[in-house]
Amino acid sequence: MIPLTAKEKICLNDEKNCSPDKCPFILGYMSRSRKIVKELLKKHDFFSRDVVSQAGLRHGICPFELSLDLALSCDLVICDYNYIFDPRVYLRRFFEQKGRENYLIMIDEAHNLFDRARGMYSAELNVKEISGISREIKKDLPTINTELKKLKKSISELEKQSGELMMESGGVKYNTAFEAPISLKFSLGDFITATESWISGEREDKPYTDKLVNLFFEVLHFKNILEIYSDHYRTLATGKKTTFCIKLICLDPGPMLARKMSYAKSTVLFSATLSPLWYFKSILGGRDEDVTLRLPSPFPRENLLVFNDDSIETRYRSREKYLDATAMAIYKWSISHKGNIMVFFPSYKYLLNVLEIFKPLAPGFEILCQDREMDEPTRESFIRKFDDFGDTNRIAFCVMGGVFSEGIDLTGDKLTGVIIVGVGLPQVSPELEIMRNYYHNEATSGFSYAYTYPGINKVLQAAGRLIRSESDRGALLLIDSRFSTSDYLSLLPQEWHPIPRTSQGFCLDAFTGEFWDKTAED
Ligand code: SF4
Repeated sequence: MIPLTAKEKICLNDEKNCSPDKCPFILGYMSRSRKIVKELLKKHDFFSRDVVSQAGLRHGICPFELSLDLALSCDLVICDYNYIFDPRVYLRRFFEQKGRENYLIMIDEAHNLFDRARGMYSAELNVKEISGISREIKKDLPTINTELKKLKKSISELEKQSGELMMESGGVKYNTAFEAPISLKFSLGDFITATESWISGEREDKPYTDKLVNLFFEVLHFKNILEIYSDHYRTLATGKKTTFCIKLICLDPGPMLARKMSYAKSTVLFSATLSPLWYFKSILGGRDEDVTLRLPSPFPRENLLVFNDDSIETRYRSREKYLDATAMAIYKWSISHKGNIMVFFPSYKYLLNVLEIFKPLAPGFEILCQDREMDEPTRESFIRKFDDFGDTNRIAFCVMGGVFSEGIDLTGDKLTGVIIVGVGLPQVSPELEIMRNYYHNEATSGFSYAYTYPGINKVLQAAGRLIRSESDRGALLLIDSRFSTSDYLSLLPQEWHPIPRTSQGFCLDAFTGEFWDKTAED
């Protein structure tokens, strides 16, 4: 078994440059690797990151390439989605060798695959980046620059053809078209041809080197996506002149995902938050005959309290009016039990507005707040605060869909409460509006596809931080009147029902107090 570690994380070369003249670990790799792979296969059956790194160091060869070669002989390979689905980096060696028809692909956290895949199969070019690089290379690389300028001219022509930006969503003006911008095809190809030999040859290190390499691969990707452009795509134009940007948006990656999955004998996609299941089946390339299975939660229902404060509105236009009520509901839910609580907001601004009111209400609380930018060590130290629990009221204000609402495991009493403010709708944007129109027809609601279902997924992921083991207990408060409507109730997990709410005359502090009293007795 081997987990594949990303190239930049396992790389041994300080420069992180893979060309043979810059990396001693790739020089002579082909001639030496076969013997080393054989030796390692004899010694180990689990190739952890450490085993691979140490072998790379010991033999002076690239550990990333070594991990890929080892993977060919492993029964189980654990890797990111992109090694299977991304047209730029998927592991050709796996899909072009005999035996692929016996593969079983298991896709964990499958709720993320749709957005990831849309990103992999979309492509974008912008005038600002091209102009900047053109200025930097004009003296040293005149031939490449000539082609780059032609490409820029072709993109500017597109802007003229596209005309005034007529539409607006989320404060961004844009135009959209069904047709692919095929007029770019030749200038894309000419730039690629002119740059190829520079890319593969020995090149001096210049301030523009990395930028030009990146641009080359962006242009190559754009050209490849242009070639597969279909009814599932739209062209999006934003910005003006120096900020003009052209994007080929993949709205439905289902057919591409299905094709990749068809290479394997079988594919299983799973996640705790595939709701509604038929929606995920339809957007992830599922066929009518594909089987779906919903399993009940393995955790005892009595360990979870769910309550809905439906007296509060969190829609954008109503937020201001309910800021005090929101802060008070959070306070009442948290005060009845000394423990750690996470509260998730749909936006950072909203979070700060409620936090300002909450602070004077809760002088005895330890309050944590997610920053807009947090590097890995800062995130880890934020999460480590939850190792301390039980003696104080600690509450963390976080953003729904952000780094703390998914993929963190706070077991036992490290997290005893979660509060969700709002139904998680993503912010309106040109791309989501285009998606909404694309999916809207007599049978389906485009709004649900573009906004409601992705939103509820964020809610379920954030709520999922609460109960992580059979003995965990926790209290979940949903703040928003929409959670009590039949549309939203049908999207919430069966084991949460029935969900008591304030409009039924229930009092949230009485409910949570009773829950924690009973827990203490048990
Ligand atoms: S070849 Fe391997 S070791 Fe060298 S720079 Fe690339 S990833 Fe790093």
